[in-house]
Amino acid sequence: MPKCPKCGADVEIPYKTWYMSRKSSRHQGVLKIGFGMFKCPQCENKFRAGVKTKEEKELRIKSVAEKAKGIEVEFVNMLKNLREKLKTLQTERGNLLLEIDELKKMAESKADALESEIGMLKEEVESLKQLLGVGELGI
Ligand SMILES: [Zn+2]
Repeated sequence: MPKCPKCGADVEIPYKTWYMSRKSSRHQGVLKIGFGMFKCPQCENKFRAGVKTKEEKELRIKSVAEKAKGIEVEFVNMLKNLREKLKTLQTERGNLLLEIDELKKMAESKADALESEIGMLKEEVESLKQLLGVGELGI
């Protein structure tokens, strides 16, 4: 959208347009150039600026559509990769949970063993105390 050279306001619609054809090596031999006269709604400054021809607009729409298609493909690939990554992570998580479970069981049985050992040692201490008469002497 052209901007007013005086105040910088956007001026959307020209009040007059004309087109010129130029020979071009690209654009199938002929390049159409559009001009428009614009009047700024803010400061009423009149100025000339290029306008987009229909062909240019169509070309732009086409390239935007192609870009969107490319983004779509990229997005689908990204989703695919993410899904695979998630799968791997979930498997890893499952394995880790199993490992943690085993470690927990190991720790529990070790704690159990220690507990019964402590119980046995306590009993031993008690019987030694009784044997020495520590409790009776009040030491
Ligand atoms: Zn202006």
